[in-house]
Amino acid sequence: MDNIKEKFPNIPERISGLGELSYNLWWSWHPSARMVFKLLDRIAWKESGHNPVKMLKELPKEVFDTVANDSEYLHRYDVVIATFYREMQTRGCWFSENITDPECLPVAYFSAEYGLHHSLPFYAGGLGFLAGDHIKECSDLGMPLVAVGFMYPEGYLRQKVRMDGWQENVDEILFRDAAPITRVLEEKGEQLVVKVPFIEPSIYVAVWKVSVGHISLYLLDTDIEINDPWNRSISAHLYIGDTEQRLRQEIVLGIGGSEVLNTLGIKHSVLHLNEGHPAFAILERVRERVEGTMSYDAAVKQVRATTVFTTHTPVPAGHDVFPFHLIDKYFSHYYPLLGISRDTILQMGALPKELAAGFNMTAFALRMSAYHNGVSSKHGEVSRRMWQSLWPDLPEEKIPIDHITNGVHVPTWIEPKMELLFNKYLGPTWLEDHDNPVVWELIDDIPDQELWQIHSWLKTKLINFIKERARKRWVENKVSPINIIAGGTLLDPSALTIGFARRFTTYKRADLIFSNIERLKKLLMSRWRPLQIIFAGKAHPADDPGKRILQRIFNFAHDPDLGGRIAFVEDYDEQLAQYMTHGVDVWLNNPLSPMEACGTSGMKASMNGVPHLSILDGWWIEGFNKKNGWGFGGKERENGDASDAEALYEILENEIIPLYYKIDDDGIPHDWVKVMKEAIRSIAPLFSARRMVKEYAEKFYQNALKSA
Ligand SMILES: *Cc1c(COP(=O)(O)O)cnc(C)c1O
Repeated sequence: MDNIKEKFPNIPERISGLGELSYNLWWSWHPSARMVFKLLDRIAWKESGHNPVKMLKELPKEVFDTVANDSEYLHRYDVVIATFYREMQTRGCWFSENITDPECLPVAYFSAEYGLHHSLPFYAGGLGFLAGDHIKECSDLGMPLVAVGFMYPEGYLRQKVRMDGWQENVDEILFRDAAPITRVLEEKGEQLVVKVPFIEPSIYVAVWKVSVGHISLYLLDTDIEINDPWNRSISAHLYIGDTEQRLRQEIVLGIGGSEVLNTLGIKHSVLHLNEGHPAFAILERVRERVEGTMSYDAAVKQVRATTVFTTHTPVPAGHDVFPFHLIDKYFSHYYPLLGISRDTILQMGALPKELAAGFNMTAFALRMSAYHNGVSSKHGEVSRRMWQSLWPDLPEEKIPIDHITNGVHVPTWIEPKMELLFNKYLGPTWLEDHDNPVVWELIDDIPDQELWQIHSWLKTKLINFIKERARKRWVENKVSPINIIAGGTLLDPSALTIGFARRFTTYKRADLIFSNIERLKKLLMSRWRPLQIIFAGKAHPADDPGKRILQRIFNFAHDPDLGGRIAFVEDYDEQLAQYMTHGVDVWLNNPLSPMEACGTSGMKASMNGVPHLSILDGWWIEGFNKKNGWGFGGKERENGDASDAEALYEILENEIIPLYYKIDDDGIPHDWVKVMKEAIRSIAPLFSARRMVKEYAEKFYQNALKSA
């Protein structure tokens, strides 16, 4: 790793730990650590986009010299740094006490995206946040794990909406040296560059590292001089549309990623693939064993017994399939190394009924892993039906695809003010013990008034944040007043506020609530009990139907007939997700069932006291208990849109709006607060990443480790 102290010549020795802290995302889920950065200069903190590396590089020396003589600051600093070093030296002990010797070789976790923090734009949506939350939780539990992914300098997309509502992409390249990532160096002090082995024509990757608590995440970057321009753009951004470039991306991730671990001398025991994109890593494991002393069959047997595969996609079109001729083009030098014929290899990725269709990454990963799962109970069921042809002798319910329902990293997604409230009423060990439902039974000890006050404060904070963003666009980009109105400047902190933010793909049906405009208008324009809705989200650059839905909503957002009660906030990212899931009153999700494999944003909202209003699909089938939010629809039937919209209006008109505006004499809507509390109580423990990671460890890693 580069020498961190040299990067921050302005920081005096007394507080030099700030440098190391800034390069470990541990700060991002510890509010007291964020505070030692924020206290240096609140405005610079905000302007850096809460990126301490950038801020520390830019602040003048005087700022550091001042706080280095401020006893109050030093006290806070000392506490944070001592906790940080202590936690980095002594791993959490859950893994060693419950699974196996912590000195065992790590699990290698491969994912095409990671959602960790908005200063690292290496995610598109839920899949990435799942990966990010998984590795943060592994750090907290003391799980030995190493992660591999991509450094995408262009990220996913920076969204700007034109005056006519059409989504555009703003080119923005990540300034690598101001991000909380470090170059991995080789002996001579140059950045480590690895050749993707056996693949012709050659591709090279440079290696970066992100420290996520105890966990190292290695990122691959093809944008280096030794590569030709086509190779350089392999890791430019997420999910390239072109099939061949997409294949090359997945070769780099699976095979290049394995080579990076080898070059670094990091041996691993179990391989965990988050979705099919990195599945070529399996081939590398087989090849290494065949290169040793094993037969192909013995190698496959051992690799299967130590491979975990998580599938996330309930629609066939969502799985990558590559034509055989393209696989031949890149793997012709690779086949002979496995000691079996080309056809045998290609068959591993073929579907029985569609032998000629190509190499299906999911089919391949399912065949080559002994442990595989969907991401909710319902999605497990859908996956068993979808992949039945791979096990022609088994009835659907016996298909060996299990499920582990997703969860979210509680310290990342609980708002700091809520955390303080829980500290006060749930006992001193609630955070350590947060996946234990008993801890949350104390929720009724919180006075309604205190919870309501914090919620109201968070709502105002969200609306101020949205207005500030709009003001910035107005001043800096001189956008049209249409964008400023649509962007949320007319939002009203006293109105019942629904939040809807997610990727804009057609099945998520962002515009469902506009099915009957007249009926919606009555709710929005009600004089005494108004409703307002805040939308955010990006469409994939190649998804024109998704962009049309976005355009439709944007146009409603500046339609005077809807009274400024609809807002579309541009450029949905992790930071906006934090504000929205903390600050709206109700979190809406209305996908076409059963297309939502799991969904996680509703979990983030619920555990902050923002109840979920959702189609009964994905995790909500498990999460909904009739008291902690609202469920509707979910039957797979024709004409689903109209009946789902009808059900949504009915719940809003008859339940949600009356309940929200039923304010008691002391000014508090006690019945509403009851739903908020029930949402927190029932959802925080069970839909935490802690419950999820423990399940992966107990169901999968533990057994797989025995075969390693
Ligand atoms: C949590 C999160 C998601 C995933 O949410 P879904 O409910 O699965 O759509 C997507 N984007 C961001 C920024 C998130 O924080």
